Amino acid sequence: MSRQDDKRINRRNFLKTAGLVGVGSVITAAKVKAADANGPNVPAAQPTIQKVPKRKLGKTGVEVPVLSLGLGRPGEPAVLRQSLDWGVNYWDTSLAAGNGTSERSIGEFIAKNPELRKDIFLVTKENKSKTPDDLEKCLQTSLKQLNTNCIDLYFGVYMVNDMVRFTDDIKKWAEDAKKRGVIKHFGFTTHQNMPQCLMAASKLDWIDAIMTSYNFRLSQDKQMQDAIDACNKAGIGLIAMKTQAMRQRGPNTDPNAVAAEAEADRKMLAHFLEKGFTEGQAKIKAVMDDQRFSSVCSAMTSTTMLMSNIAVAHDKTKLAAEDMDVLKQYAQATCSGYCAGCAHICEPVALGVPVGDIMRALMYHDSYGDIAHAKAVFAEIPADVKQRLLSVDYSAAEHVCPNRMQIGKLIADAAAKLA
Ligand code: SF4
Repeated sequence: MSRQDDKRINRRNFLKTAGLVGVGSVITAAKVKAADANGPNVPAAQPTIQKVPKRKLGKTGVEVPVLSLGLGRPGEPAVLRQSLDWGVNYWDTSLAAGNGTSERSIGEFIAKNPELRKDIFLVTKENKSKTPDDLEKCLQTSLKQLNTNCIDLYFGVYMVNDMVRFTDDIKKWAEDAKKRGVIKHFGFTTHQNMPQCLMAASKLDWIDAIMTSYNFRLSQDKQMQDAIDACNKAGIGLIAMKTQAMRQRGPNTDPNAVAAEAEADRKMLAHFLEKGFTEGQAKIKAVMDDQRFSSVCSAMTSTTMLMSNIAVAHDKTKLAAEDMDVLKQYAQATCSGYCAGCAHICEPVALGVPVGDIMRALMYHDSYGDIAHAKAVFAEIPADVKQRLLSVDYSAAEHVCPNRMQIGKLIADAAAKLA
């Protein structure tokens, strides 16, 4: 890295440029705005930034950037091109994202810039296929939408919460798809019961990579740490998602709890601003510093967000023990607003209600503002379960929930917003 580049992305200088604002939308540098406005083919006056560092994706040996571009929505051409220029060439989408619009936006970009396809590490996911035939249909649709003949990493089992879908048939399909050259690597994603899924996967030699929820809250869980170690030892590449660990903003009627959480927010924010990080940057750094993860996937919908996270990827200082303590205390003080995905704990006593899925839908609605995706997740709940959502007694589930979530109130809130 040149001295000049070093100076440009120094944390403090970066934040001075950025202005101290909240998660995600951090910088307002006029040059970056110009890049957004001018579109992909106009050489806007852009800051010169070295490409982000890379790490090996487990036993695949492939090098991927420590920061990857999450495309849950259609990708803006300017962001796609800029991400490549800055080395964020791992693009993560899915068949279901934006009802296909995300994959199609990438496909359009590739159609217009075919020479750039070789520079992209393209990652997509199936959508709840039940058989190898279903899976093949999902893959063929993705290949068509993405305008490519090979997926670099295919998450052929999407949103895993147990291992029942890891059959010999799926293994054979994955091996055959690699032989046919339509995928290069195979893996799965998990948002629920992650420690159990990761530990089980560490014993499967045909899993190349896993995308898992992971953040400063989940890192407190010993089972999660053991499972990550096991995957690491097995050479499975790990990609972290949901690193911001956003809370559900359900109706919290206890004013003391609301005040305590607000104070925890204030303390955490003040600590990291003093260190030169925004809240969002500190949370990403807490995961990125963990060398067991190959990459951190973040939804970045503008070049300003991209640049903010790239600053973290380039930053060479490690968070100190006192910083991790601040995050730990913050996680404890605000845990009642965060669903950790440990559905195996609450669902056995929730009378058939998929609590984890409903909390996830609420998170998409409240924290990400992705109403369509939130409604799509909620719509998956069987009609007979939906009908009795408000009449179930959730006290037993609340009693066992390690995060003391107000499950009944949150489910009522989700039903009101998403039904
Ligand atoms: S509601 Fe509680 S027990 Fe259930 S998945 Fe979320 S954090 Fe775990």
